[in-house]
Amino acid sequence: MIEKYTVVIGLEVHAQLLTESKAFSTSSASYGEMPNSNTDPVTLGMPGTLPVLNKKLVEYAVKMGLATNCKIRKKCGFARKNYFYPDLPKGYQISQHEDPICYDGKVEIELDGKRKFIGLTRIHMEEDSGKSIHDLDIDTLLDFNRAGTPLIEIVSEPQIRSSQEAYQYLTQIKQILLYLGISTGNMEEGALRCDANISVMPKGSYKFGTRTEVKNLNSFRNVQKAIDYEARRQVELIESGGEVIQQTMMWDGGASVTRAMRSKGDAADYRYFPEPDLPALNLSDEFVSRLNNELPELPLEKKYRLVDEYGLPVYDAGILVEDPELSDLFEKSCGMLESKNKNNYKLVSNWLMRDLLQLRAELDVKISELDLPDFLIPELVDLISRGEISSSVAKEIFPECFQNKTHPSKVVEEKGLSQVSDESLIDGLAREIVEANPEQVEQYKAGKDRVLGFFVGQIMKKTKGKANPKLVSNAVKKYLDA
Ligand code: ADP
Ligand code: MG
Repeated sequence: MIEKYTVVIGLEVHAQLLTESKAFSTSSASYGEMPNSNTDPVTLGMPGTLPVLNKKLVEYAVKMGLATNCKIRKKCGFARKNYFYPDLPKGYQISQHEDPICYDGKVEIELDGKRKFIGLTRIHMEEDSGKSIHDLDIDTLLDFNRAGTPLIEIVSEPQIRSSQEAYQYLTQIKQILLYLGISTGNMEEGALRCDANISVMPKGSYKFGTRTEVKNLNSFRNVQKAIDYEARRQVELIESGGEVIQQTMMWDGGASVTRAMRSKGDAADYRYFPEPDLPALNLSDEFVSRLNNELPELPLEKKYRLVDEYGLPVYDAGILVEDPELSDLFEKSCGMLESKNKNNYKLVSNWLMRDLLQLRAELDVKISELDLPDFLIPELVDLISRGEISSSVAKEIFPECFQNKTHPSKVVEEKGLSQVSDESLIDGLAREIVEANPEQVEQYKAGKDRVLGFFVGQIMKKTKGKANPKLVSNAVKKYLDA
């Protein structure tokens, strides 16, 4: 049934910005502090206090806009969004309404190798509310640490057509935030929040259906699941003669269903009006062009550059760019290789994707906090590619080199781990092993090629993994085929 419908999705994403202080006051904006330790009279909405705009909030919003091909509105202002809630001490939120600082942008996404642009309607600046804590055993508690911390809201056009596209879109948004260094993008910690607007229409139609908005999506997976669930619910409703009503729903992660929360209010309910306590913004051309010059290379561009420049598989490049520190480390390590070629670049990528990511997960730190010596990975790769050590020896000595910051070549020398590439030695071993195992030789001659592995394995065992596997295999074949 769902195949007869087109799913239409628009996402509203809130990103918490990594400024030191709050959007309009001097309190710290840091996350995870003692409840109510980051407050001040402005945050608490005391009568007579006045907001002062944090310049970083504007810079970060403009950077995000530039990185997503938005137009920048140099003259814009703030607006009050009025509503009552216990965690909103002022009784209003300072936001932007009709003149968002960035508008008319686009984000490129990629799905199954196909690339597509999703339009951005707007990016605007606002402050966060505090937090009501209902799940402790006493009455509701209030924590105002988050109140007044700076956010940007990124609103997409309804141009997303599947839950997978939504996932890719969110991935791009998160990566761009990370590359710009303006948000952690951590959805589980609430630094990235997403509301999904979903509607369905018969295939071939151009008239959008009525949308619902799903809130409380706290992971990428849940966004995807909630969209799939909600699209199916709407189709089933329509097919059974019902009608979708515009409402706000919430995602119940435990039951994996969406539930109606309230009928959807509209902008008029908020009684928006221009914020009288803050002057309008008037950004100079220099300000915007300075930020434009500071923009880093963005994740998707970087991904395809890694493919072109280093000959990496698209899959590898995708993993490496997920973390800007990882892809930077990749390029740095490749630059330090003695022998710069495609095979060695791929080896570097293997080490990063496998061993480095494993270390990062085990120690639960950022790549830069691992304190990995720069020389370690390039040196291991050079040793392997020169045939001086086998991959298994490299793996074996990696933890020690990492721990003690020692050069792999030194450990190899001290422990005598050099790969045995002495051809006459290997030749002798091969002859011995072949002569000592007539039964296996018979099997080999009868067409059982796998037996070759048995002989190679025996020699590797004898040399404690140090023999050059290629030479071993050649030598064994020579005697078997003789
Ligand atoms: P509101 O304040 O009502 O949430 P916004 O303009 O902030 O409205 O956000 C509307 C969001 O809903 C945008 O992301 C937009 O792309 C999306 N949207 C609008 N119409 C539809 C529709 N028919 N189906 C799905 N998404 C829609
Ligand atoms: Mg909304």
